[in-house]
Amino acid sequence: MKKASSANCDICGTMDDVQHVLVECSRYNLERLDVMRRYKINRFDVGALTSLLSQPTTEGFRSVVEIFVHRQQ
Ligand SMILES: [Zn+2]
Repeated sequence: MKKASSANCDICGTMDDVQHVLVECSRYNLERLDVMRRYKINRFDVGALTSLLSQPTTEGFRSVVEIFVHRQQ
């Protein structure tokens, strides 16, 4: 996961920030499904995922990021 927020996503062409990677980017659909299963979030309930990810201090957020980072290694 890139830390820089200035670059655009290779896949989507939109701004490639954490929010994009975790919530929007189609590159991480599988990882996102893992996260949603783990937290019992309906796959169409983007609002629930977004609210989970909007609290960077929570354990939920950290483990979500861990899943994404792990998958890219
Ligand atoms: Zn993207």
